Amino acid sequence: MKNIKSTILLASVSLALSWSFQAAPTWAQVSQVKATTKAAAEKNLPLDPAVRTGKLPNGFTYYIRHNEEPKKRVTFYLANKIGSVLEDDSQRGLAHFMEHMSFNGTKHFPKNELVSYLQKSGVRFGADLNAYTSFDETVYQLPIPSDNPEILKNGIQIMRDWAQDATLDPTEIDKERGVVLEEKRLGKGAQERMQRAYLPVILNHSRYSLRLPIGTDEVLNNFKPETIKRFYHDWYRPDLQALIVVGDIDVNEMEKTVKAKFSDLKKPAVEKPRTKYTVPLTGQNQFIAITDKEMTVTVAQVFMKQPALDLHTASQYRQSIIRGLFNRMSGARYAEIMRQANPPYLQGGADLSGFLGGLDTYSVYAVAKPGELEKGFKTAWRETERIKRFGFTQTELDRAKQSFLSDMEAALKEKNKTNSDSYVNEYLQYFLKGTAAPGISFEYDLVKNDLPGIALSEVNAITKTSIKSTNRDVMLLAPEKDKATLPAEAVVNTWIKDVEAEDLKPYNDEVSKQPLLANAPAAGKITAETKDAALGTTTLTLSNGIKVVLKPTDFKDNEIVFSASAPGGTSLYSDADFESAKNASGMVESFGVGNYNPTQLEKYLSGKQLSVSPYISERTQGVSGSSTPKDLETAFELIYGYLTEPRKDADLFQGIITSSKAGLANRLNDPNAVFQDTLSAVLGNHNVRRTGPSIAKIDQISLDREYAIYKERFADASGMTFTFVGNIDIEKIKPLLEKYIASLPAKNLGEQAKDLGIHIPEGQIAKNVYKGSEPKASVDLIWSGAFEYSAAEKIQLDALKECLEIRLIERLREDESGVYSPGAFANNSKFPTQRYSIFVYFGCDPKNADKLVASTLDEINKIKTNGPAQVNIDKWRAESIRSRETAVRTNGFWLGYISGQINDKEDLHQLDTYTKDLNSVTVESVKATAQKYLSGKNYIRMQLLPEAAAAK
Ligand SMILES: [Zn+2]
Repeated sequence: MKNIKSTILLASVSLALSWSFQAAPTWAQVSQVKATTKAAAEKNLPLDPAVRTGKLPNGFTYYIRHNEEPKKRVTFYLANKIGSVLEDDSQRGLAHFMEHMSFNGTKHFPKNELVSYLQKSGVRFGADLNAYTSFDETVYQLPIPSDNPEILKNGIQIMRDWAQDATLDPTEIDKERGVVLEEKRLGKGAQERMQRAYLPVILNHSRYSLRLPIGTDEVLNNFKPETIKRFYHDWYRPDLQALIVVGDIDVNEMEKTVKAKFSDLKKPAVEKPRTKYTVPLTGQNQFIAITDKEMTVTVAQVFMKQPALDLHTASQYRQSIIRGLFNRMSGARYAEIMRQANPPYLQGGADLSGFLGGLDTYSVYAVAKPGELEKGFKTAWRETERIKRFGFTQTELDRAKQSFLSDMEAALKEKNKTNSDSYVNEYLQYFLKGTAAPGISFEYDLVKNDLPGIALSEVNAITKTSIKSTNRDVMLLAPEKDKATLPAEAVVNTWIKDVEAEDLKPYNDEVSKQPLLANAPAAGKITAETKDAALGTTTLTLSNGIKVVLKPTDFKDNEIVFSASAPGGTSLYSDADFESAKNASGMVESFGVGNYNPTQLEKYLSGKQLSVSPYISERTQGVSGSSTPKDLETAFELIYGYLTEPRKDADLFQGIITSSKAGLANRLNDPNAVFQDTLSAVLGNHNVRRTGPSIAKIDQISLDREYAIYKERFADASGMTFTFVGNIDIEKIKPLLEKYIASLPAKNLGEQAKDLGIHIPEGQIAKNVYKGSEPKASVDLIWSGAFEYSAAEKIQLDALKECLEIRLIERLREDESGVYSPGAFANNSKFPTQRYSIFVYFGCDPKNADKLVASTLDEINKIKTNGPAQVNIDKWRAESIRSRETAVRTNGFWLGYISGQINDKEDLHQLDTYTKDLNSVTVESVKATAQKYLSGKNYIRMQLLPEAAAAK
């Protein structure tokens, strides 16, 4: 969901919930450096010389850098070392509330004028303009066009206003209370309830555990304007603030302006000390077990806390490389367990990463299968114990170094096309935490010099220093019905001791020496070539009938993206075969390819920058992915492999089936899952292909049928069109296309997808789902029907959606204080039939749902009767033009556009009329569009309401 104005950051805290994400280790992303001499190793690393930095006499810091990616844009960040941890008891939640108030009136932009002004300048609220508040920081971000002097001037004025000139009008404060309380309501549920219970424990009852950024209802409902003014006055001061400016600007001019604008920021007469809070290590072990009736899985997580590794000096950076290598290897070991025939848990892992309040944590976690907590926990702990006892192997380390260096090389190659946002984030961390930001060339050189000298013993030492039996917290989270069977602390400790006493075998690093493909492709030919100068594309026809569209670009130096599709998909199979067809591509991909099982494939691809995935959707099948120019041949090898040599693996199949069933066991404890299943079923007219997952559906999947369908879908590639966009050398890619694509099998069947006749039902439908204990409602309103498909009509529909959304934000949020982020979106399709749908959605207090729906319908009626306000059309047009300006400088846009137009059998030159179509939108045209598509003849209202509301 689109976040408006602000997102509360619990990022650090969410580490405790890292099992809910399968993200790469944090450290893997961090770039590192090396010491050349002992003395140099202890000095702070230099800041990237490409950034202009300085500190004004009042203590205000700035960082300014010229960067043309994207062109004609500049990103401003106002960074404040001010967060919820600085609140006193009467201010809990006001650091975040203050962030909201910065959008509700400043000296130069009273009331809501700031948001409105920016929208008129083409800046999208929520997507572009945003801010966040966490424990230790509040950050405001504003990316704006830099080619218009007036917008640029006002952008700087906004940053200056945010620094110290928020109005804090009592009336506006009262209006914003409801919005913040609604934001808080959206966060309620099982995760939040459990978090409230475990955070004090894992945060060692430190100040952080009493200062969750969202605050307390009591303060948010009752605080006096003086209380927030005191917070603002005490903390919004120049010594805790920095302006970061990166973009297509003149650095000298910008520095002059910053000096002129920010030198008069005042320090308070009495400066409160900005205490650096920490989570103190106690030397104690802790244990906490929490159950919740809406929890869907059982999780065990062990945190072993230790002082944080800062990243200021060369020797600290060297240590962070060692960590990065450790986490890569550990991650690969745990990933391999998941690829066993019958994985012993749903998910598991271990890594050493940042925590909060000056601490890092080595954490081991397992998401258990129902009733198998001991087995799952022991498996996760066993792998860490194996690493501790035997260390990693030299071949694992070699691979990890290779992939580490490859990531750095990839970043270095993109040096001149690095996005401004990425620089902004580096300087933000440099200002907030002192995290070194010496620049990619500097880092690359040092990593390259440093990696060869890192010995296996240094990486293995991490387990010796990190895995401890003190400062160790064990946390169990589970569905309520498992309460009685959850182990006590002593039992978990016994499990750990049991594993430590086991007779373990060292890890055996099996690497395949075979070629990836069992059969080398028999190259075909390019039989025709045409060029489209206006579009900048070359289209090739291959001897097997496949078409290839190539669009070379200079947007990125190290990126090629591609996709291919042909008509067919799961629409060609009966309902009885549907589950096998739907799951075929995902499962077959997870079996590996050619001669390699998935683990061998993982190792083969280590150090390469590419991804390739086959897919079978409802109406098409194909393949999609990305690569660097250097690894393009490997990407082709994989495409050919997936389409001609899929693997079949009965053991892995059984494992996936077992895990999928285990994952479903408690899924319907989650109110959102129940609501989504119902919504999907209703919108799909209860067709079996649209209803939610179930054990019975999993039982319908057959390995043989799945594999046969997969092979059948890719047996005839003649209907396929490939699109490649990026840093392509046409002459160099031709031999690869002849070898790997012109060699794909072709039968010229001319397959077409079938119309299954599934669409949103007609008429008026209202349905409530009663599930969940929190006083919160989710409302979805849907209009749908036949669509008059054309490029111009799609633009009219988009304008209607945007004008409606702008009004819903103004009315439901700003005027009625009833919601946090109402949204609207519109869909349209050309095939199998021309249809549209418009969705409006928001979360709210169940008591307000009727009133807010009535307000929504009232706004719709106003658009149908009078048309939208001209100013909202102007905002939509400015946003469309500005976002298109940057989109057309990305490879992803062109890949989506070209392949989308081909799939829809539409003209590839449709972009030429874009501006004309935009300009054809008027108050009258949107009014007519609203009358046509929001008539209410086909209207569905679905609501998720608390269980308690069902009785009433
Ligand atoms: Zn907020």
